[in-house]
Amino acid sequence: MSEANPGRQALDYPWGARQEPGTVVTIQPGVLWVRMALPMTLDHINLYALEDAAGWWIFDTGLRLDATREIWERVAAEHFGGKPVVGMICSHCHPDHVGMAGWISERWQAPLWMTHGEYYMGLAFSHGGGDGPLWEAIEFYRRAGAATGFLERFRQRTRGFAGLVEPLPRAFHRVRDGEVFTIGGSRWEVVVGRGHSPEHLCLLSRERALLLSGDQVIPLITPNVSVLAIEPEGNPLADFLDSMRRFLDLPDEVLVLPAHNTPFRGLHRRLRQLIAHHEDHLAALEEACLQPSTALELLPALFKRTLDTEQIGLALGECIAHLHLLLARGRIERLVDADGLYRYRTLDPAVAERAGSVPHVRDDDPVMAIDGEPI
Ligand SMILES: [Zn+2]
Repeated sequence: MSEANPGRQALDYPWGARQEPGTVVTIQPGVLWVRMALPMTLDHINLYALEDAAGWWIFDTGLRLDATREIWERVAAEHFGGKPVVGMICSHCHPDHVGMAGWISERWQAPLWMTHGEYYMGLAFSHGGGDGPLWEAIEFYRRAGAATGFLERFRQRTRGFAGLVEPLPRAFHRVRDGEVFTIGGSRWEVVVGRGHSPEHLCLLSRERALLLSGDQVIPLITPNVSVLAIEPEGNPLADFLDSMRRFLDLPDEVLVLPAHNTPFRGLHRRLRQLIAHHEDHLAALEEACLQPSTALELLPALFKRTLDTEQIGLALGECIAHLHLLLARGRIERLVDADGLYRYRTLDPAVAERAGSVPHVRDDDPVMAIDGEPI
């Protein structure tokens, strides 16, 4: 699946590959890009504002921080020409995207537009996860081979997104795939992607040749695709790869406006890179499973660097996402040992013959996004 030269340098970055937090850039008349800092490994997020006749629409809102609030106030004062915020569109439920939706909604009496799946998942996560039964989550990580120390820390720190998000607005407008917003006289089509989150909203304007891609397509990092304890038998990587293939039907000439890194051109190239990246990891895992192994034992097949305790939960989620897709494809089987641990074993004897012949995990791979999003 790999291209001969997967080099992401072939993507075109009109604004360069870095931009300082707090910067506001006019992408086109009526389309603003607002860069904000995040206090985590993934240290920034891109938010956008679209001008309409009566006011501005905000696309993604930022993490709940005083700094985020201050930047939105400054952007409104200096760039909105005296117009209010008239609506918010949130791509998905993660806290760096919906964190300030509640505040913006109150500040400007601006309604929220989101897909059904994302609104309700955001609502559930934002109420925290500290007071319900935990046994399913503990069991999920124990079966994956996680050490007792990890499980104990997980038991103590699980808390959902509470603290990272303002309480979500009590009401929302449901958005479906294929619906169209008309903003500032331009048509913006809703394109739903899956896998990183359940029903992620992107916005495409064919006439402006712009795609607001949120976390679904990012140029330098790979969106986190994880099986989470909340749905332990999920298969999000199948959804993600299916979305990547469907996005190949979108026009290649768009300028992609992602939530992380910087705007770029080369949508189809990036989609093919992401597909190849995951297919390479699937192949590497299939080889690693020649020896029946737990998800924890399989992590070195996907991650060349050492992971700290905080990262192991997300890394296990990514690894299990790949394993579930291999199970669904009938490439491996899942065994349960005497301790109840899941071990995965390759079914195709031909894998042994090809083993080691292809350098599956490329050294120049962008690291998977272990981006500080809580489990
Ligand atoms: Zn996200």
